This record gives sequence, C-alpha cells and structure tokens, in this order.
Amino acid sequence: MDPRTRTTVRSLRIREDTAKYLYNLAEDSPYYDPKSRSMRENPLAGKELEAARFSGDNFGRYSGEVTAANEAQVFAWQATRAGVYAHSIAEPTKLEALKREYEKGKSTLKNETQKKLLDKYGGVEHMKRPADELLLGQTESYVEYNRQGKVIKGKRRATIKSCFKEDVYPQNHNSVFGSFWREGNWGYKCCHQFVRNSYCTGKQGIEAESSAAEGTTTSKEFKVPKLFEPSGSVEKARRDQNREKRGRKRHSSDDSDSEKELKKAMKKAKREGDRGHKYNTNYSNTAPAKQQMEAYRRTSVYSDDPMATYVNSKFGKKYSK
Ligand SMILES: [Zn+2]
Repeated sequence: MDPRTRTTVRSLRIREDTAKYLYNLAEDSPYYDPKSRSMRENPLAGKELEAARFSGDNFGRYSGEVTAANEAQVFAWQATRAGVYAHSIAEPTKLEALKREYEKGKSTLKNETQKKLLDKYGGVEHMKRPADELLLGQTESYVEYNRQGKVIKGKRRATIKSCFKEDVYPQNHNSVFGSFWREGNWGYKCCHQFVRNSYCTGKQGIEAESSAAEGTTTSKEFKVPKLFEPSGSVEKARRDQNREKRGRKRHSSDDSDSEKELKKAMKKAKREGDRGHKYNTNYSNTAPAKQQMEAYRRTSVYSDDPMATYVNSKFGKKYSK
C-alpha cells in the first residue's frame, strides 16, 4: 500500500452551511475541536433525527452502513498488504466476495482447530457456560453516554431505581421511614411515629401525635389555648376579672357583669377579626392606651437631654439585653 495514500478527507464546509459550533450555543454544548473541525457529539440532542440538520460527527461515522464500508476498506488494505489486490471503491463486488470467503475460511478454521483440540484433550463441558451477564454480573456490550447521561450509542440499559430496597414496609406500616417530618424528626407518614422500629399505630397514632404537637391531650376537658386575641377590649375585660380576683371589686360591676363583658368582647373580636390590622402585621394596630403612653414617656430617653448619655451608660447594659 502506498504510504502516501490519503485516508482522511478534510471536512470543509461551504460558506452557506451553518458552522457546527453555531448549532448549540449553550455553555454545556458538545465540544468542538477547531483543529480537526469536528464536533463528535450531537449538538441538537433533544431534536428528532429527521428534523436535526446536524447530529454530530459520530452519527455520520457510526450509524447506518458506514461501519460496514469502513470494515471493507480496512479489509482491502489488509488484503493488499497480504498480496491480494483489492480496492474497496473500484472493485466493491470482488472485495465483498473475497471478504465473505475469508470470513468463512476463518470461522471454519477456527471451528476445526477447536474440534481437534477438544477431541484430543476433552473438556467439552467447559465450553458450555452460562452467558457472561449471568456469570460476572457485567457485559461486554458497549454503551456510550453524552454529558447529560443519555445513551447515544449502544443499547439502552434498564434504569436502576436505587441501591436500597424499595417498597418494603416493615412492622405493618404503609409508608417508609422518612415519609413524615416534624420539627427535626423523621418518621412514618401512616402513623406519625418517629421511632424507626415501632409498629404501626395507624389513625390513633396520627391523632396522638398531632395533639402532642399542639401541646394538648386528646381528652375533651382541655381546650386548646388561644394564642392570639386581637381586640384591646378583651384585655380590658380580663383586667377587670383579675382585679376582682384580687378582691378589689369595682362598684359598677359584679361577677356576672364582667363575665358578660368578656363574652361580649370575645364575640366582637370574633366578628371583627383582623380588621384593625395592616396588611403585613400580626398584631393589633389600635392606638396605645393612656397608661401605656404615660409609661412610655416616663421611660423614654430624650436625645436633647444632657444627662441622656449618663442614663445610657448607667442603664445601657440593662437595655442592651
Ligand atoms: Zn405506620
């Protein structure tokens, strides 16, 4: 074979064709090798093959009958080197016939040698073996992936779900451990249990857990404490009640009166809801009471006051905390 035979053809594009590196401008687009002007991976990976104008150089290299043609070319070189002249393009039929003959001879030769050896030494039982997949848990099948992890060449493997056992529910549970979460604890969703090896308690478990989370017991004697009472009038009514407890009864109200007042205030608060609130506030937006204002004026520090810094230095620690 002539060593100067050019086996590669420069892939120069004509000007009106889009350059390979312009098909996909994403940062993780396939690598374009500027020296060989090749982009092996498919830049339009998501597109259908029919619609894509360019599917990567590997597509043209390894799909369809290209591999057969390449093999024929290699065979022609080898045959020429061995002394039998064959040209893959000038005499394709001759080459094909030669190739077929060669393959046949090769396989029969191999079979014959094998048979001879087996006849001489025995050991046919060792030739019968299960498939490699079963023996070693691995195969020789070639799979090529792109950067996104999609198979671009070779068979598509079945997806492996997880290395852990799936859909196994121990101790009568309907869900896996970790399907429920509350305040830093993982548990079962079916019964809200946080102990991993516990038995499922079902609905009762959920009730018990949710009541525990609210800070109450399941019995009906205890009511859920209200965290938030919006109106100032409720506070006033409560103040009255407290005053009565301390024995300083007011002239105008007795027990039943104040209770009525409390109920009334509660009703009012319920009816009005958060009407006094601004959009983003969680607290009542009503004006402070006279007493509150008085307390504020007494404790506030005026910046004009020459003794303000002294007060700050003396009580600063107390206020800073
Ligand atoms: Zn459960």
